[in-house]
Amino acid sequence: PLTPPAGAVHALERALATRADETFLTYFDGRLTYREVDALTDSVAGRLAARGVAKGDRVAVLLQNSPAFVLAVLGAWKAGAIVLPVNPMYKTGEVRHVLTDGEVRALICSDRAWEAYLRDAADGTPVEFALTACELDFQSRDDKRVLDFERLPVAADAEDLTEAARAGHPAPEGRETGPQDIALISYTSGTSGTPKGATNTHGNLMYNAERQATGLGLPEHAAYFALAPLFHITGMVCQFLAALNSAGSLVLAYRFEAGVVLDAFTEHRPAYTVGPSTAFMALAAHPSVGRDHFTSFAQISSGGAPLPPALVDKFEAAFGPYIQNGYGLTECSAPCASVTGGLRAPVDPVSGTLAVGVPGADTVVRILDDQGQEVPFGEQGEIVVKGPQVVPGYWRRPEATAETFPDGELRTGDIGFMDEQGWLYVVDRKKDMINASGFKVWPREVEDVLYTHPAVREAAVVGVPDGYRGETVKAYISLRPGAEATGEDLAAYCKERLAAYKYPRLVEILPDLPKTATGKILRRELRAK
Ligand code: ATP
Repeated sequence: PLTPPAGAVHALERALATRADETFLTYFDGRLTYREVDALTDSVAGRLAARGVAKGDRVAVLLQNSPAFVLAVLGAWKAGAIVLPVNPMYKTGEVRHVLTDGEVRALICSDRAWEAYLRDAADGTPVEFALTACELDFQSRDDKRVLDFERLPVAADAEDLTEAARAGHPAPEGRETGPQDIALISYTSGTSGTPKGATNTHGNLMYNAERQATGLGLPEHAAYFALAPLFHITGMVCQFLAALNSAGSLVLAYRFEAGVVLDAFTEHRPAYTVGPSTAFMALAAHPSVGRDHFTSFAQISSGGAPLPPALVDKFEAAFGPYIQNGYGLTECSAPCASVTGGLRAPVDPVSGTLAVGVPGADTVVRILDDQGQEVPFGEQGEIVVKGPQVVPGYWRRPEATAETFPDGELRTGDIGFMDEQGWLYVVDRKKDMINASGFKVWPREVEDVLYTHPAVREAAVVGVPDGYRGETVKAYISLRPGAEATGEDLAAYCKERLAAYKYPRLVEILPDLPKTATGKILRRELRAK
């Protein structure tokens, strides 16, 4: 069993004890040490408390992957608040929905976001107040030290900023939180419907951060590159909290842009990163990508979305690293199964699916049939998870909580199976099954075949209504730059490799497939086309 710290603030204290003057955050050419982060987050906490934020109040954070994000979240935790990270790609209506749903008191965001979305809204703002760059003294309008709140505090300025922080706003007393207290309300990606707010406790988050830091065999105090967005649970836990928990460093690069990310790999030499498989496809397709970009990595993981085995093979052959799979959900604070110790996950010989890993320590994964009975090894059923990372429920949704977490066990809604060695395989989401003339078709299996075609960059398979079959299989494809293939070519390619009821009778080629901000392909949107 693991013994993680009680919360992120405790992990920060532990890091301060031995590595106060080492770099914690790196952002382009700016750096902040643990000591500087400590002073700045005291100041954020002090300001929130001075404006009346009490323990357990909700504070939303709407920022890209920047130092400001980390300072805002740690500062809010020092004030005993519950953090509600907001997707910065949301439009005004979506931002307002989560602020209202979470009954948020304060919002920490850039001046620009506050002005653009909320300050002058005709129907009022759903929050009492916002702390923006100016109000936090990270930036003042006529002072160009820190040009953009989301862009920096740079090292040279950090001393001034920490002085100002110490002078004016000491951290409040008596805000200690324990592992059972809610740390986050994290919204699911919304790939299957409206996002729901999972209540991750400090204990949930730190358990997974500890597993990440110890289980992967990374070098001590490793540099983590934040490829996944920090507002999403994977980025929050496997990058930010894992880096903090191991007293390592976190390399930030605003938002995902393949060219910028590759430059940051070269400059900062990270040892670890995790992102959705679509991010790796984008890196692989960038004109300047080469093997040299990946030489510093001890491990690269894909998480939060299916990983086609063909992508792993092509990536390894072209650039060197073997991408590890990992399976998780917002409701279990990111991973609940992963590949550890440098192992290679097997591919199931029948379905061609790559295993997602083995369940973590103290985590029990069961596969249940429709009657709730456990099925034998190798048989498919719903994946259910019990463990220290499973959240107590959804924010103020007792019915959804009772349905998804009977007896504290998480019903994932994913179909999978386990082999005799304990490897877990995710077949697909229960809701995405296609019923073609009574035959079950799992889109993932068809997508995995499409990804083996050299012209395919992205593939998504959905069921569309069909007068004869009920539903028929349709594939949406985006092509690799410069590649040429027609829909007929791709349908014929699949027909050779899949049973007659599985191959896509319809193939449509699009310039790009719709994705969430976390890089997941939105089958829901394609189905509605
Ligand atoms: P919503 O619940 O709002 O529809 P979502 O389920 O996409 O959104 P997340 O919590 O971000 O929200 O995603 C979890 C889901 O992602 C899992 O239930 C699973 O379907 C999928 N997933 C995660 N990791 C993997 C993986 N390694 N292989 C296949 N699927 C994965």
